Amino acid sequence: MPELVFFSGTMDCGKSTLALQIEHNRSARGLQGMIFTRDDRAGEGKLSSRLGLVTDAVEAAEGFDFYAYLVAHLSKGGRCDYVIADEAQFLAPEQIDQLARVVDDLELDVFAFGITTDFRSKLFPGSQRLVELADRVEVLQVEALCWCGARATHNARTVGGEMVVEGAQVVVGDVNAGDDAGEVGYEVLCRRHHRRRMTAATARAAALSPDVLPVPYEDDQLTPGRPAAR
Ligand SMILES: [Zn+2]
Repeated sequence: MPELVFFSGTMDCGKSTLALQIEHNRSARGLQGMIFTRDDRAGEGKLSSRLGLVTDAVEAAEGFDFYAYLVAHLSKGGRCDYVIADEAQFLAPEQIDQLARVVDDLELDVFAFGITTDFRSKLFPGSQRLVELADRVEVLQVEALCWCGARATHNARTVGGEMVVEGAQVVVGDVNAGDDAGEVGYEVLCRRHHRRRMTAATARAAALSPDVLPVPYEDDQLTPGRPAAR
């Protein structure tokens, strides 16, 4: 039975790398996929991974109809054995419905890859629709790490290194952005540090000026009212 599978995770958790790996494994078995993406960091019509791999893809812009595109491709004698949709968080809910129809009516496997939640820890509309419709949701096993070493489960948007919680849902930036004033970047954090709005840069700044934050307590060494001996 063909399936709609949603591979979800934070930024930087290896989604695009896995998408390229699936494409590689299937083409080694003689299968031909149709690859779609939206606003990839490598530019229009590209699917790229942070590890440096890149392949051509069809840009699924706003208003793009996946179902109509694939029906037209197949009826012209084109081949398609399965579908990959990367950056699926940027898709509109009705585009996710089209992908479900591709599974049900064209009987193709569809592998969608996307970030689950935005920088305010709210679901992207495309990801929400995928959670609602997917036959399976796979949370990626390649774990991104917060600066503290804990598992990163949340995406933070930064401006000049400081976490922000207001603004448009989609603003292009990268996890490798610097701390330059005004530069929009993204950083993956554990929930604790997302709630405290503490990025690597602000944690570094706090470490340099100990007055800013109370001395952290180690739970296992805690004596009430006294800082832990370290
Ligand atoms: Zn953390």
